[in-house]
Formats: sequence, structure tokens, C-alpha cells
Amino acid sequence: MKDKFGREIGYLRVAVTDRCNLRCLYCMPEEGVEFKPHPEILTYEEIERVIRAAVPLGITKIRLTGGEPLVRKDLPDFIKKIRSIPGIEEIALTTNGTFLPKYAYALKEAGLDRVNISLDSLKPERYKEMTRGGDLSKVLRGINLALDLGLKPVKLNVVVVKGFNDDEVLDFVAFVREKEVHVRFIEFMSIGESRTWKNRGYVENAQLRERISLKDQTLTALSAEEVSVLGNGPAEYYRVQGGLGTIGFISPVSNHFCSRCNRLRLTADGKLRPCLLSDRYVDIKTALRSGGSQKTLQDLIKKTIFSKPEEKEIDQTKPEDEIGPDTAFMSQIGG
Ligand code: SAM
Ligand code: SF4
Repeated sequence: MKDKFGREIGYLRVAVTDRCNLRCLYCMPEEGVEFKPHPEILTYEEIERVIRAAVPLGITKIRLTGGEPLVRKDLPDFIKKIRSIPGIEEIALTTNGTFLPKYAYALKEAGLDRVNISLDSLKPERYKEMTRGGDLSKVLRGINLALDLGLKPVKLNVVVVKGFNDDEVLDFVAFVREKEVHVRFIEFMSIGESRTWKNRGYVENAQLRERISLKDQTLTALSAEEVSVLGNGPAEYYRVQGGLGTIGFISPVSNHFCSRCNRLRLTADGKLRPCLLSDRYVDIKTALRSGGSQKTLQDLIKKTIFSKPEEKEIDQTKPEDEIGPDTAFMSQIGG
């Protein structure tokens, strides 16, 4: 279904939990955010109802995210259920990767198509610091397993934070030379927890690209066909000479891609959000829990699609006190 501005909405991101086993500096405070009590979180059955209602409206692609989706029990069983819904063409997962060594086989067997893995540093000590305790070796094992099992294309999300990991950009370029992974440098956004994080600072992707080009003269943009294999998302992709993988740039701050945005988000506590960078949402949980019909759910989904703003409404570059009332945490919206 098209929104008011002619964008075809075909993609639903579902945060299956707001909990996480890590505490990335920019995403969650050390003590954790106040997690929603279990009854507030949608059950798998409720999420499935939303997806079933969304498919006839044109949703064909589902991404499971969180918090950390792999901390929610029985995720493979849930994937099996949504795999069986006619009209679902792709199921993807965004994960911090630490539980992939444990669950990758079950996820693949359940029908998961592919994974995006978040990895902000290739240095064990720094990774541990940025995630407050994460173990890099588990993520690296998870990446290898995802490749071996064909959960491809395997994409790596690297949030670049000034003064923290921007010195590792060339290490990531070296990484894609050796492995068939698609590293996407994501501009750090000042929202949720990161609004109050004093060390925040983003590096414009154009600067990173220049820095890489200086070292690697052979950075070439992928053709439209090659990009479509990787999914027509917000990233701009480049090949590095001799690389098995590619590098990409996602620039929500310096060069937002609202005109191409095709997605909706369902938060773990049952809010449909038309835009990551807007406070707008439509409550769908009340309808789910008060006997709302499929038609009622579809009306709410349509309402969300129609409320999708033409452009982002939160300017992440503004200082904290100028951004306005609080926006939800990334771990609640799902990134
Ligand atoms: N726990 C999973 C993970 O880390 O991949 C899924 C949820 S996480 C909220 C989804 C994505 O949002 C991750 O790639 C994370 O790095 C990114 N993210 C979180 N806070 C961010 C911020 N302030 N700016 C940019 N990306 C952010
Ligand atoms: Fe957890 Fe992902 Fe947030 Fe890190 S970015 S704290 S892994 S939800």
C-alpha cells in the first residue's frame, strides 16, 4: 500500500523484546532501561495477528529486532509460524550476534532468510567497553556460522562514534576483503539513551568515504542490480578491490533517505510507528486485547501508513535540551 507521498510500504520491523544481554554505551544505560513488565509486551500470537493483517496491505518483508531478539524464548518457533503466512517473502533478523553460535542452526531450520549483525569494533577490549561486557569472539563465531549456513547476505552494522571507533574504519575495509560480509557504517544518531550520553558525536559518512578512498583508490559503487541483491535499503554500497564483501554507508543524519523509506515499526509494547525519527505512533495493543477484528487491525495499520511523515521530525544534531520531549529508546523501537 502507498502512503500519502506515494511511497510503497512493504516492510515491517518488529521489536520482539525491549530486553538485551548487552548494554551498548549509546543505546542503554548501564543499569538497563526500565523494562516493560511482561504483560505489556505483545505475545507472539498478537504479533502474528498484526503480521497477518499487514500482509494483504502489502507487507512482504519482516525484520525481527529488539532489544536483543535472541533473548526472547522460542524465537525459532515464532519464525516458523510467520514463515507459514502466505505472502511473506523474506524474514530477516537484526542481532548483536552473541547468541548466534547457540541458535543459528535452529533459526536457519525455522526458515530465517538472513541476518544483520551489529559489531562496532574489531578490537576485543574496545568491543567489551562499547557493549559493557560483550565478548567479541562469540560475535565472530556467529558471523562465520551465519555465512556457513547461508543466512546471506550477512550484513554488519557498524555505528561510528567519534573518538571511539572511527579509527577502525580501514580495519573494517580489510575485514570485507577477507569475508563475504557487507559492512555498513551507520551515522550515530542522538536519540533515546544517546541523547544524554556525553561522549556522543557523529562522523559524517562523506568523511569516512573520503578517508577510505584515499587509501583505497578502487572504491566503486555497486550497480543497481548488485544493490537489489543486497536489498533496496538506505545504504549506498561500494566494492573494494579484491573484496569478498562490500562496504556501505547509511547516513540518517547527514543525508536522510526519507523519500525512499518503505517501512513501519512495531514496538515490543504494541505501538505502530511510521518513522524512527518521529514521536508519532498508533496504539494497536488495545485493539488486539479487546477483541478487535482483522479489519480493525488493518484500519490501524492504514492509519499508521497515512500518518507517515514526509521527512524525519527529530533533528538528531540538535543539543539534548532542544530536541523536545523524550523519544523512545532504540532498544524499544528496534533501530
Ligand atoms: N540488539 C540488536 C542489535 O544490536 O543489533 C537489535 C536492536 S539494536 C537497537 C538495532 C540497531 O540499532 C543496532 O545496529 C544498533 O547499533 C543501532 N543503534 C542503536 N542506537 C543507535 C544510535 N544512537 N545511532 C545509530 N544506531 C543505533
Ligand atoms: Fe542491546 Fe542492540 Fe542496544 Fe546494543 S544496540 S544495547 S545489543 S539492543
